[in-house]
Amino acid sequence: MPHPLTDVKIHTITKPRTAAVEELHGDLCVVGAGIAGMSAALTAAGLGRRVILVDALPMLGGQCANSLIGLFCGVYGNGPDYRQLTHGIFDRMFPALEQTQDLSYNHRHTITVNYDEHAVGRWMEQEVERAGVVPVTGASILEVENDAGHLRAVTFATRFGLLRVSADSFIDASGDAALTWESGLECRVPERTIWGSQQVRIEGLNPAAAPEPKELAQSVHDHAEDYGLIRRDGLAFFFPGRDTAVLNMTHIEAPLEAVGASEAQLRGKDQADRVIRFLKDQYPAAFGNATVRFYGLPGRRQTRWIAGEHQLTEHEVRSGFRFEDSIARTAWPIELHDQPEGYVWEQFDSDHVHYVPLGSITPRGAVNLLAAGRCVDGDAAALSSVRVMGPCAAMGEAAAHALDLADGGPVAEIDTAELRDRIRANIGPDRPQDGGGADNPDKPEHSENTEMVHAAH
Ligand SMILES: Cc1cc2nc3c(=O)[nH]c(=O)nc-3n(C[C@H](O)[C@H](O)[C@H](O)COP(=O)(O)OP(=O)(O)OC[C@H]3O[C@@H](n4cnc5c(N)ncnc54)[C@H](O)[C@@H]3O)c2cc1C
Repeated sequence: MPHPLTDVKIHTITKPRTAAVEELHGDLCVVGAGIAGMSAALTAAGLGRRVILVDALPMLGGQCANSLIGLFCGVYGNGPDYRQLTHGIFDRMFPALEQTQDLSYNHRHTITVNYDEHAVGRWMEQEVERAGVVPVTGASILEVENDAGHLRAVTFATRFGLLRVSADSFIDASGDAALTWESGLECRVPERTIWGSQQVRIEGLNPAAAPEPKELAQSVHDHAEDYGLIRRDGLAFFFPGRDTAVLNMTHIEAPLEAVGASEAQLRGKDQADRVIRFLKDQYPAAFGNATVRFYGLPGRRQTRWIAGEHQLTEHEVRSGFRFEDSIARTAWPIELHDQPEGYVWEQFDSDHVHYVPLGSITPRGAVNLLAAGRCVDGDAAALSSVRVMGPCAAMGEAAAHALDLADGGPVAEIDTAELRDRIRANIGPDRPQDGGGADNPDKPEHSENTEMVHAAH
């Protein structure tokens, strides 16, 4: 008889007939840990709230950290002033990542901010721990207890069994309005696909030999058929000082059912592989030695979103309409991916800013639920201009403050002046003479100061 390697005894177990459901209670339950949910959770924790942050992915960070987005957009206004329009989470994140050289700023029509996705993901995890937010990863919504618009609890399916989270208030930061949908409240879907992308980070590049963005886009357009590419334009975001780039050069569908979504993911990776073959063939000096470091999770732009108290319109965006209850702002162009080959890109003039009102993050019929991020209410074009990460973070911050003011009661009854004061840094002063911009400058629908192109961008 050989000597046993260990004295650990093993028990044989079976699942009890009435397996216990794990229970958690918080002041606030945030569903979705992308940039919007993260901003909401950290803000609420900073207000002293007990926050539970739940995500279906096994990690935090949503698309920001896991879909290889690679670039913060919509945080700054247009040049030459480049005003910072959203503060909050970015005021802490950017300096931290600057120190480790995981961030760099590009000054073009606006400032966009390159970031290393691993560094951002890690920063988010550390912030969650520091703030005392309770993270729950790998948990998908199974059932919502909705008492006439007042959500009481959500049960999640996890690989370890069921988890029931009860809370005084909820934020739907799921990107696909999953919490609103599962609550039985109205949602919106576009009549045709708004395309997502399979992003990929490649390494081993020679950026010095890379084509100019316009040349690259034209070349994709000219060779798309030969390589079987759905999208006929594209961008490569080179990280300064490194031999890597994120490729944003594919279009993939973003279905709302399990099998379709899984199939689309594989088709997306095939598109990414085709793009890399194209780059290696056409630009060997820049991409000849490129290898894939990482395929991102499927990138989803506009899938399903809430039917809100107010639907933000393209006209309100173009005219920079300022609402009484504005809660976020940006100057990002209309960037609508509603066609397989390319997308609409409409850039605004230098002093343009547009706003998102509280009504657009308030699901119709909800009492203690707000949305934040890419699933808030807008028409297709309006939403395309506010779903970038700057305004998504601002919406998360505002949702946390609004629900803090509501203190478990109806959000509809909060003092919006108090809310405005709390989020002043993200919406600017109320009065134009204080630098708040023109109040409700109801410009004609097709402003001459805008430029409409079908992007090679
Ligand atoms: C390819 C692509 C390129 C883009 N490029 C840029 C860019 O360069 N710059 C920029 O600023 N923006 C860009 N955007 C837009 C931006 O990335 C997104 O709109 C933004 O990240 C959305 O953030 P969010 O927090 O609203 O949602 P997400 O990041 O989508 O987070 C939602 C989270 O909710 C979770 N979830 C969903 N359903 C459930 C459920 N049922 N139960 C539990 N959890 C659930 C998901 O797992 C996910 O983690 C791009 C988008 C795409 C798709």
